[in-house]
Amino acid sequence: MAGPLPNFHDLTRAELTALVTSWGFSPVHAASLWSGVYHDDEERFSDMAEVPARLRARLEQEISLAPPAVVSERHSTDGFTRKYLLALADGQRIEAVLMRFTGRVTACVSSQAGCAMGCVFCATGRMGFARHLTPGEIVAQVLHVRRALRPSAAGAALPLPSTASANKRDPGPGAVQPETPNPDRLRNVVLMGMGEPLHNYDAVMKAVEILRDQNGPAIGARRITLSTVGVIPGIVRLADEANPPHLAVSLHAATQAERAALVPVATRWPLDALMEACRYYCEKRQRRIFFEWTLIAGRNDTPEQAHAVGRLLHGLPAQVNLIPLNPIPGYAGAPSDRAAARGFQDILAGYGLPSTVRQRRGIDIAAGCGQLAAAR
Ligand code: SAH
Ligand code: SF4
Repeated sequence: MAGPLPNFHDLTRAELTALVTSWGFSPVHAASLWSGVYHDDEERFSDMAEVPARLRARLEQEISLAPPAVVSERHSTDGFTRKYLLALADGQRIEAVLMRFTGRVTACVSSQAGCAMGCVFCATGRMGFARHLTPGEIVAQVLHVRRALRPSAAGAALPLPSTASANKRDPGPGAVQPETPNPDRLRNVVLMGMGEPLHNYDAVMKAVEILRDQNGPAIGARRITLSTVGVIPGIVRLADEANPPHLAVSLHAATQAERAALVPVATRWPLDALMEACRYYCEKRQRRIFFEWTLIAGRNDTPEQAHAVGRLLHGLPAQVNLIPLNPIPGYAGAPSDRAAARGFQDILAGYGLPSTVRQRRGIDIAAGCGQLAAAR
């Protein structure tokens, strides 16, 4: 029996052009198809009048354009966050999140179903690893969020609050660009959902290429950020790419022993070697790195630990994003309070390290960092 059809979103523009021309059609038709799907957001080949009927018929038979099914959708009470539970073609479930910040909308997407890295405070890690996502499954999450922002979208009766009233202090994860003229357009993508993006390197980089295509989704080259638990070979590979996405590294501890207790894979990729890879990335790319630090009360939020971070990151063009722990089932730690976070920031500032405290977003719908799991 034939397997499932290949998915349109797994193809780069060059691959689509090669396929269409191999069927005897002009590259011009490949270009119309590409912009029909990505620019005009067409959801069916049959709706693309500018594509020849014979080509549409062949596509219908050989390529799937089906989006993932929406199993459920939850809106945070403040209205700034929406979480989508999506079912993939084989039934695997993943989550994607729409987040509204001042002047920008950000899509937070998953790179794997589950995660193999086992960080003790992360709901995805506790699920274990199911499988890697394909490039198309990553792209499709971004398209889903983009569609949700259309005025005609389901749920438009409950419009998102304006960006003007969104939180002003926290520019949001991966926010490296100033506010944009049309704040209701999706402009930022962060690979900070379920999974470890550098464990699924090739699919993630292919998705990034598709998302950036100027005639396609046209997400700005500097508006995609990837967060890693610290997969060293992936960081080095990323540094050697022509135009890598922005990098965030989940640090959580400034000594090897403390880090290994929170992030088991630190045993495989130790802190010293991780910092060396980060220095290589910064020097090679001439860019700063974001370091994420989940703040757990009494565990990694003391003044001594803040000083240790200051010494560890000294000399690197770094920015620290502090994320007060979000509650997850099975981990008893508590988030640091505001005073502890403030104190931590003040110490970092003494080392010349800029930092932000990530606003707690979508916690009431379990859409915060580390809360994504697909059990429901
Ligand atoms: N696998 C990648 C990206 C996904 S997790 C990574 O680990 O970097 C995105 C961020 O959420 C990471 O910094 C992660 O450490 C953090 N995180 C995980 N669980 C959390 C929790 N319960 N509360 C707050 N942040 C959490
Ligand atoms: Fe995986 Fe990131 Fe969660 Fe760790 S924090 S288990 S790497 S998703």
